Amino acid sequence: MKNKSRLFQYFCGFSAVCLTLLVSSPLALLAFYDSKSVVPVAGASVYQDSPSPKTMYTLPDTIADAYYMNENPENPPLSVKPVYDVFTVQERQTKGLSLELPKVSPYYASKVVCLTFDDGPDPENTPVVLDILKSHGIKATFFVVGTQIEKHPDVLRRVYQEGHAIGNHSYNHVYRELYQSANTYVSQLRRTDDIIKKVIGVRPRISRAPGGSAGSFTKEYWETLSKLGYVEVGWNVSSGDASNAKAGRIFNNIVTQMDNKNLWSHTIVLMHDGSGHGETVRALPDIIKYYKDRQFEFRVINLETPPAW
Ligand SMILES: [Zn+2]
Repeated sequence: MKNKSRLFQYFCGFSAVCLTLLVSSPLALLAFYDSKSVVPVAGASVYQDSPSPKTMYTLPDTIADAYYMNENPENPPLSVKPVYDVFTVQERQTKGLSLELPKVSPYYASKVVCLTFDDGPDPENTPVVLDILKSHGIKATFFVVGTQIEKHPDVLRRVYQEGHAIGNHSYNHVYRELYQSANTYVSQLRRTDDIIKKVIGVRPRISRAPGGSAGSFTKEYWETLSKLGYVEVGWNVSSGDASNAKAGRIFNNIVTQMDNKNLWSHTIVLMHDGSGHGETVRALPDIIKYYKDRQFEFRVINLETPPAW
């Protein structure tokens, strides 16, 4: 009798330990990831009976068709898709996570084009650009400005949800403030990261310097960007839509530059969807047709995009 009751005590003690372990391990995991929601990798089946930590992701509430950087070792960068980071620079530093980017090979093919739009989101032009892209079934990349996102967060949300790539294009686009130093430049990027993350739950790793890096960046800028894991994205075809060019002129500007067939393997076209760029929007269907007629592959900017030059 005495033996039986001791056995029972052991059994109870053992069960309590097991129960504690069972309850605490997922809790510890949740605490580490500091998550709003923990869901499995997109495309994988929802929780199996015993979810392994490796299949758990911290993703925003609204998940777009994209590649999310979240430290999961079984999360190789996916080609074709836009890239987002679940963590800001600050969060990575606080958690002791790497700011380095995954190493991937640059993607070249015989005919590749990335359409890019700067200075939005704009309540007039961006939705029309999105409609045109959708009607052609293609994705593009939008380099967005912090002050514009604050005014039009819904437009940014739509860009994200429709599977386009989003890049950081500074907080206020004011050159004399932005380019005081590498630190002021990066602090605008980080401020805009936070604003983007508030709207879509994640932040980009790609950025584009307003006016282009040439003439504005010193070695220190490049070093700071690389240390913090930002990818600066240039262009090799300019639509010339920054002035008051009409749609026909914008189209011709692009076509003329495509005479350089060295660019066909990795064309990056600079356009603007900010306020006052209605002519770009008018030119867009012809621009898309030009590339479609020549069987170009439309891609978004991601970690596989080669340098423009
Ligand atoms: Zn710009």
